[in-house]
Amino acid sequence: MMYSEKVLDHFSNPRNVGEIEDADGVGEIGNAKCGDIMKMYLKIDNGIITDAKFKTFGCGAAVATSSMATELIKGKSIDDALKLTNDAVVEALDGLPAVKIHCSVLAEQAVRSALSDYYTRQGIDPLPIVGEIKEPEEH
Ligand SMILES: [Zn+2]
Repeated sequence: MMYSEKVLDHFSNPRNVGEIEDADGVGEIGNAKCGDIMKMYLKIDNGIITDAKFKTFGCGAAVATSSMATELIKGKSIDDALKLTNDAVVEALDGLPAVKIHCSVLAEQAVRSALSDYYTRQGIDPLPIVGEIKEPEEH
């Protein structure tokens, strides 16, 4: 199994690790296949994601995709963050081995889960905006 330089870099030096104490949205998602658990913290100001941090208990691909996902959504609008797909995260990492693709889905869903929490805290039903949060299926 081969990992790209970018995957190795984000695994060895993950960006935005930690938690945000006064986060505006917190999401958690897991997958049964690797036992990966990902927690995502977002700070949101006027519809813009001003900060994003994560904690991942999981495999190298899960750490690398969480790291890249936080980099991709920081400074972006909620709308743009909702358009973030696992394909975009994988592409930004120059690819992942096929058996690890489910780990990148985790990052996408963790972002959506945190945004869903954000809307719930505002008293807004997140379902029409964020959609359903899917726990990645086993392959
Ligand atoms: Zn994994």
